[in-house]
This record gives sequence, structure tokens and C-alpha cells, in this order.
Amino acid sequence: MAIESRNGRCLCGAVELTASQIEPHIHACHCSMCRRWSGGPALAVTVGSLEIRGEENVSVYDSSPWAERAFCKLCGTNLFYRIKETGMTVLWSGTLDSADGLELAGEIYVDEKPGFYDLAGDHPRQTGEEFLKSVGLSPE
Ligand SMILES: [Zn+2]
Ligand SMILES: [Zn+2]
Repeated sequence: MAIESRNGRCLCGAVELTASQIEPHIHACHCSMCRRWSGGPALAVTVGSLEIRGEENVSVYDSSPWAERAFCKLCGTNLFYRIKETGMTVLWSGTLDSADGLELAGEIYVDEKPGFYDLAGDHPRQTGEEFLKSVGLSPE
């Protein structure tokens, strides 16, 4: 069941947010883009909607022709990833004030994961190619 709503913010507090209809399933992405952007794997949740306060402090960056990534201009906190065409929004779970009820549900791009860390637990682990096929996209 989705979490009705939860508040969050960036590290410096210039950006505050309220996420609604949060899927409580954390997906970890080990792709090289997420690791370069975040400094580590992305741990994110899909949200139905996102209300932002302090929007003037949010910088949105086109990370590919189809997706954008948003971060706080002042402190650099990674906020979300959004598919431009559908508006599907994936929020970096660390921005939420509480992690209650969130569970690691899957890992993607395990073929790009460095060897020096592993995430514990029994959940699906997909390579980039397997992930793209599962969402109906073909690898480049
Ligand atoms: Zn900030
Ligand atoms: Zn990624």
C-alpha cells in the first residue's frame, strides 16, 4: 500500500517537499550515471505527486533526452529523477523526514555495480539490459 504523504527537505532546508502516494518500495540503481551524480547508488521511491516549496532553489538538469534530475542549488542535495514525457517521478529516499515503512525491493544495473559494496537481502537483482527489457525499452 502506498504511503499517503510524507514531508522532506534538502540538507540546507532551502527546498522543502511533500511527497504523496509514495510507493514504499526502494529501488537501488547502481548505474554509472546515478553513482556519479549521487556519489553512491541511488536509493529512490516512486511518488504519485510532489509538491515543492522553495522552487527557486531547485536546479533541473537534463541528464538524457528523456529524463531530468533535480537538485538544491545551494547545498547540492539530489532531489528527484523525472521522465519528461510521462512525468513519472522518482524521489531520492534520503530527502524524506522518515524512512518508516520503506523496504528495499529491488536492485537495477547490478552489472555496473562496483565490487566494494553489496546490499543485503533477498530481492530481485537485474542487469541494465534485464531492467530495460522489463520496462519495454531495448538497450542502446
Ligand atoms: Zn539545500
Ligand atoms: Zn541509475
